[in-house]
Amino acid sequence: MSDRYLDLVSGGPGKSAAKKLGLPQPVRLRRTDPGSVDQPLVPGPVLVLDDGASLPAADELAETLLGWDLDVRRDPQELAKGRRWGAVVLVLTEAASPAALAGPVLALGGVLRRLAPGGRVVTVSRRADDAREPAVVAVRQGVDGFLRSLAKELRAGATANGVVLGQDVPVGAPSAVGAVRFFLSARSAFVDGQLLHVTSADGVAPADWTRPLEGMVAVVTGAARGIGAAIVSVLARDGARVVGVDVPAAGEALSRVMNEVRGSALQLDITAEDAAERILVHVRERYGRLDVVVHNAGILRDKLLANMTDDRWNDLLAVNVLAPLRMNETFAEELGAGGRIISLASTSGIAGNRGQTNYAAAKAGIIGMTRALAPVVAASGATANAVAPGFIETDMTAKIPPVPRQVARRANSLQQGGQPVDVAEAIAFLASPQAGGVNGQTLRVCGQNLVGQ
Ligand code: NAD
Repeated sequence: MSDRYLDLVSGGPGKSAAKKLGLPQPVRLRRTDPGSVDQPLVPGPVLVLDDGASLPAADELAETLLGWDLDVRRDPQELAKGRRWGAVVLVLTEAASPAALAGPVLALGGVLRRLAPGGRVVTVSRRADDAREPAVVAVRQGVDGFLRSLAKELRAGATANGVVLGQDVPVGAPSAVGAVRFFLSARSAFVDGQLLHVTSADGVAPADWTRPLEGMVAVVTGAARGIGAAIVSVLARDGARVVGVDVPAAGEALSRVMNEVRGSALQLDITAEDAAERILVHVRERYGRLDVVVHNAGILRDKLLANMTDDRWNDLLAVNVLAPLRMNETFAEELGAGGRIISLASTSGIAGNRGQTNYAAAKAGIIGMTRALAPVVAASGATANAVAPGFIETDMTAKIPPVPRQVARRANSLQQGGQPVDVAEAIAFLASPQAGGVNGQTLRVCGQNLVGQ
């Protein structure tokens, strides 16, 4: 779906007019270019800052970044005239009081004007709830507020996100490093102002960072179009073999999507009692294993509650939450070490949305389901996570009338709607071996939507 306003203000007279009139100035986001294996991870040198107490952790992370061939600096003055920083990483894991923030945060402030378009700020801190000392809890929680505010100040497609480590998770843990890499990269283009919790030291770094899903088999429901079709192509790009599921009425579109990645199509309504069993039979026959399940199929049946019919309520709940719940009873048993269940939630399930009591009940339900499933699947070395998209340019959102659509797509820090590929990239990260220490979490892909937490 095209965003004509974004096209208009992307350059030339449109750009200067928007600036003069104080109108939103969205820019084209830095996204992964599938045609280029040489695309740099970040658009310039990376500055690693710390609060003093976190110096050893910062050194360790800087070593990892050097190992990825990044140009890593520890001194803000160390940048030649005319050059711009690609990213700034703040390591704050051992900070013991809010007083510790001043040094690294003000140093960051001093270099922000030289952050490249599409640049990144990434904080690495620890979970506030794991500490007891009030000053420690205060600084950890303080990182939260700081990060979310900074993300609202950045411009030109730059983003700020945080990695929050559980108490016993070392900074070098696969998921800590994996999450930092995801946030630095173009894969996280539409993730902004988010703090992703790394809950354990589980997970493994992939043999090849460009094909982390090599050898894995994934099932994606609702694969015929929109976000589902993008998930299929990104998982395949990352090395997975993919089975796409959709209703028989979408059979032709499904075949087209699956043929493109040489995957396999399964026509099936996920509300069928035996849906999970039929998927398993199909996957076993074709590929002999199952590693990743993506619950993406979803429908909208918007109505104010005063006008809600039984059908609208029940049909929506059946597809959007009851089917994933039922299917998980089978999949949770089937998945072994490295297994992944990833479900589509929505920012409507976090903030609520007028006319969407049914949809928000289902999507909030998905967030709860994910949290509850996490410890169950962890016993066999698998994880369950969710992704909550905000406004994404698809057939679903193209149906919103023009004026509310314009308002909805500008109401985030990046002042534009996300693309299906942005949601797919987050799912591919959660599916990857390096995300094995992220469990029970909901990652928002919403450009830091103005509504919700
Ligand atoms: P879409 O309507 O374009 O695609 C949904 C797909 O699911 C369709 O191909 C449809 O045929 C399939 N499907 C519906 N019911 C099914 C069933 N019973 N069995 C099998 N397949 C079925 O939607 P989209 O915009 O690509 O959204 C994908 C997911 O992302 C949904 O869960 C949606 O709620 C969620 N989401 C979308 C947005 C957005 O802005 N587009 C925002 C938040 C969340």
